Amino acid sequence: MTDAPTNIRVLKELWAVEFQWPDGAVHQLPFRLLRGRCPCAGCVDEFTGVRKVDVDAIPENIAPINVSFTGNYALKFAWSDRHDTGLYTWENLRHLGEALQAAQESNGDA
Ligand SMILES: [Zn+2]
Repeated sequence: MTDAPTNIRVLKELWAVEFQWPDGAVHQLPFRLLRGRCPCAGCVDEFTGVRKVDVDAIPENIAPINVSFTGNYALKFAWSDRHDTGLYTWENLRHLGEALQAAQESNGDA
């Protein structure tokens, strides 16, 4: 199980949420990426794993209107498009951050 972040900051001016992890890693996940990776049953078919929401259809100016803890294992985001059913586990968020970092490094603009 992934440990909880040591710090979480919503950076409105960067349109991103910053996560600091116990091992010192820091990831900034853009709002639109987070919304696009919503893991809820309304966005992803729970049997096939196929994403049902077109990520390109998510508004450019999507933003969280509320972020809350769910137990000690996940964050719940309420988005400005009124979608609020996604629970983002620490493991899920850590994985997203690492995938984004790897993509940025392979593009040479990290
Ligand atoms: Zn969803």
